[in-house]
Amino acid sequence: MASSFEQSKTSWPFTSEELGFDPGKLREKYREERDLRIRGDGNSQYKDTKGEFSYFVEDPYAESVIEREKLCDEVEAVVIGGGFGGMLAAARLKETGLKKVRVIEKGADFGGTWYWNRYPGAMCDIESYIYLPLLEEMGYVPKEKYTHAPEILDYSRQVAEHFGLYEDACLQTQVTELVWDDDIDRWIVSTDRGDRIKAQFVAMSNGPLNRPKLPGIEGIESYRGHTFHTSRWDYEYTGGDSNGKLSGLRDKRVAIIGTGATAIQCVPHLGESAKELFVFQRTPSSVDVRANRDTDPEWADNLEEGWQQRRMDNFNVLVSGGYQEEDLVGDGWTEIYRKLAKIIPVNGSEKMSKEQIALHTEIADFQKMNDVRARVDSIVEDAETAEALKPYYRQFCKRPCYHDEYLPTYNRPNVTLVDTKGKGVERIIENGLVANGKTYEVDCIIFATGFEVGTGYTRNAGFEVTGSDGRSLEEKWLNGPVTLHGIQSSGFPNCFFMGMIQSGLSPNFPHLLDEQSKHIAHTVRGTLDRGATVAEVTEEAEMEWCETMRKKARLGMRFFNECTPGYYNNEGRPDAENGFLSNVYGGGPVEFFQILRDWRADGTLAGINLKKSQSTD
Ligand code: NDP
Repeated sequence: MASSFEQSKTSWPFTSEELGFDPGKLREKYREERDLRIRGDGNSQYKDTKGEFSYFVEDPYAESVIEREKLCDEVEAVVIGGGFGGMLAAARLKETGLKKVRVIEKGADFGGTWYWNRYPGAMCDIESYIYLPLLEEMGYVPKEKYTHAPEILDYSRQVAEHFGLYEDACLQTQVTELVWDDDIDRWIVSTDRGDRIKAQFVAMSNGPLNRPKLPGIEGIESYRGHTFHTSRWDYEYTGGDSNGKLSGLRDKRVAIIGTGATAIQCVPHLGESAKELFVFQRTPSSVDVRANRDTDPEWADNLEEGWQQRRMDNFNVLVSGGYQEEDLVGDGWTEIYRKLAKIIPVNGSEKMSKEQIALHTEIADFQKMNDVRARVDSIVEDAETAEALKPYYRQFCKRPCYHDEYLPTYNRPNVTLVDTKGKGVERIIENGLVANGKTYEVDCIIFATGFEVGTGYTRNAGFEVTGSDGRSLEEKWLNGPVTLHGIQSSGFPNCFFMGMIQSGLSPNFPHLLDEQSKHIAHTVRGTLDRGATVAEVTEEAEMEWCETMRKKARLGMRFFNECTPGYYNNEGRPDAENGFLSNVYGGGPVEFFQILRDWRADGTLAGINLKKSQSTD
């Protein structure tokens, strides 16, 4: 909690009268709410979906098991993961001239996140024109500003078709091990189908949100009713489809645990269909206006070459706090910066100290969140429910949500918000749940409790990677990842990592994957063009990057320390070594993408050792 000394020290740039609220009091309230939620067990509060819980990760969508012979062949590149990252890497590797690129994917099709997350109401929460990758290459414009999951899954299949990714793909296949063979300078990729595939290059895009997590609530194993995780939606039980109309729930009492970005999208459909719905909330999400709309065909027809990259960059600059003449996306994600622009005079920031800018930003954040809280009051009729739905933390402490039907759902007579005031569900019993000392008997519990984020890389991937000196990646990264630009690590030649490791993270995650895929293709092409077959980052280069990461990491630390717990701040322990933040480049995505672009433009593959394969000498 802030001491009164600290409070009195803060010299706010505006008075409470000018603002219409007391910023000191609001800051204090945020801290109180955070302290209610801080718990000692951090990430270990969650349960692994293994053993008796493994049914939570079974694939309910695959129509049949794809039968095939084991593969013992060789390809130029293996790409692990058939989501956006994997598709981008494979597409760009093919574009750069590789013929044999094999995507290995656990699901029965391409799509990754969008293969698994088919819950009713699933849609992209970033504007689809910047979220869906390769739109210009595909000549495709999504149907809506925020398009729905079925279109994204279908688009993923079109991308895979377009780039010929089905030809060599191994679907319904999980990698079990990756071992570098020094004698032949190839990766040996083993899978749960008994494959042993040789690959010169490997790109890993396992997905940051690929392992569903369950809360370690006492008695979770004793529940005898129906249960599933949102990323494995059981339509056989609920009826309906991704548009809702869940007829199977007509006579059911349903509980959903969690109120994050996923729950916000499916709760309206559950409320509409279930006989009774109980939403168990630990922390309310910030739920702002969505205002979705169909794509204007005239606008789509008149898009000029390079439009998608420009739009992605424009959004990225704005959400990083930078200046752009025009806000091309112009939605809730960028609004906080529009508010900031209003309270900082033109060019005023140049004369301000860092502290002053930080205080102005905090004020703009308070204003933004005041609007979000006022929106709850204007929609939710019951005053107590409305109060419980108000988020008291800074907007980017958790993933902000945008939805126009979520809050009205609480006006339905069959829907009850069970607010646990930061404590979570107390216990699960044979026929229901206990929260705030009260028992709720239900027929079905749906876990909208998210995915493992703050755990180690190989645990998250589900397989070990053994490098050139027989050393495992887990061992090398015991105290956190060690890479150059988050993409390559010494001792693991010709291996490329994609995702959040030591990288600049944009809320538009596919933008990061896009930059990484270009980088990988550039490095592979550069390696082959120089007549080399092995590219390995030097220890000096990765140590230098780690040093840059360390210097920059502190930038966001104060912000995240003050945030309510969640996966953004490693469940309230932002400085943990393997946490989400230890992976994030503190200078932000604009700076990070520029570093990658400059590195590529330099054209020398700086920091990478190239060698010819011994087997071809
Ligand atoms: P989150 O991790 O965001 O949310 C999990 C929820 O479960 C939180 O509300 C959490 O509460 C709650 N919870 C955990 N344990 C308990 C407990 N013991 N009792 C009660 N509640 C509990 O997962 P989501 O699946 O909602 O979202 C994950 C991510 O997926 C998002 O952040 C976003 O990045 C992505 N996403 C993207 C979409 C897109 O369109 N691009 C759409 C949907 C999701 P608490 O907040 O207190 O921890």
